[in-house]
Amino acid sequence: MKHFLASLLLVILLFASCKPAEKKESCTVFLLGTVCGIQLFTGKSQKDAHTVLTAAFTRIEQLERHLSANAAESTLITVNTSAGSTAVSIPADIEPIFTRALFFAEHTNGAFNPAIGGIVKLWNIGFENERIPPETAINHALNYTDYRDIAISGGTIFLKKAGMKLDLGAIAKGFAADQAALIMKQNGIMNALIDIGGTITAIGGRPQGKPWIIGIRDPRKRQGEPILSTTLSGRSISTSGSYERYFEQDGIRYHHIIDPKTGYPVRNNLVSVSIFSDSAADADALSTACFVLGYENALKLLSTMPGTDAVFIFDDNTIRTTAGFESSLHIINEDFSFAAT
Ligand code: AMP
Ligand code: MG
Repeated sequence: MKHFLASLLLVILLFASCKPAEKKESCTVFLLGTVCGIQLFTGKSQKDAHTVLTAAFTRIEQLERHLSANAAESTLITVNTSAGSTAVSIPADIEPIFTRALFFAEHTNGAFNPAIGGIVKLWNIGFENERIPPETAINHALNYTDYRDIAISGGTIFLKKAGMKLDLGAIAKGFAADQAALIMKQNGIMNALIDIGGTITAIGGRPQGKPWIIGIRDPRKRQGEPILSTTLSGRSISTSGSYERYFEQDGIRYHHIIDPKTGYPVRNNLVSVSIFSDSAADADALSTACFVLGYENALKLLSTMPGTDAVFIFDDNTIRTTAGFESSLHIINEDFSFAAT
């Protein structure tokens, strides 16, 4: 009997150590100019879980120090102020965001343009002195936005023309989400939801086999209710829309996504584009690019990017998706519907 009880205890102990109860831990901070949140479920102690969360946020803070276009100083600002004169060394673990940004510039024929910095600064949308810049200033700034003048080699980055300015705001949130996901996985966190200002990466799911469920919100409302929901696991979603940062003047909405051909905010029949991809950086860059390109050209681009899905929301409340993806979505707000064709 003693023997039996000892074995039973051992089995219970083994079971408990193999499958500890998964507890929720979460943390939210303001970094990269946006709200960054991570929630996770783990059998680790609260202290250990928070050590992992701290490691992830420390990395994001580090990214901010390298990539910010708005802080007093950053590696990116050094690159910009060295334009036309000096190549600037960039850490090996930061270089991939620059090379990936250039990749998307080349694959979108500049619709995604990391050299858009000068134009972004002119508009300053989302900041105190946002304004419609004089046309002459826009035309002048457009001369400094050729992404083919960005040279990346041997761990350095060089902007060939003095006056050029990089802005990685359209890919940095995704890159940060990818880095946070890597830190989660390296530390044995297998169930987490990482949300960097709306660019979301899902690892695993919630307890009891439940998936992570994410929403795509009403593009025209600042605090909109979700209009669509979908499950997300092992993938990322990024949404770009004309609703995130904007001001209105004379009935026209001036938002933060710039058409690099004109230097003005994009105007088309889209209110948002959401991209699903294995990489959050790719989802982020592609959602901005597809918003600039418009529906037809975005579909052409996406057909060359395996593993991506997209949801387009139009200004007449219709929704279109890449082939076959409609069935993954659940409409919550009945004012919206899938387009007939
Ligand atoms: P997102 O919210 O990811 O679509 O990125 C928008 C941000 O990217 C803006 O606030 C700008 O900093 C920058 N941006 C604006 N237009 C472009 C563009 N055409 N290509 C690349 N970055 C852009
Ligand atoms: Mg983006």
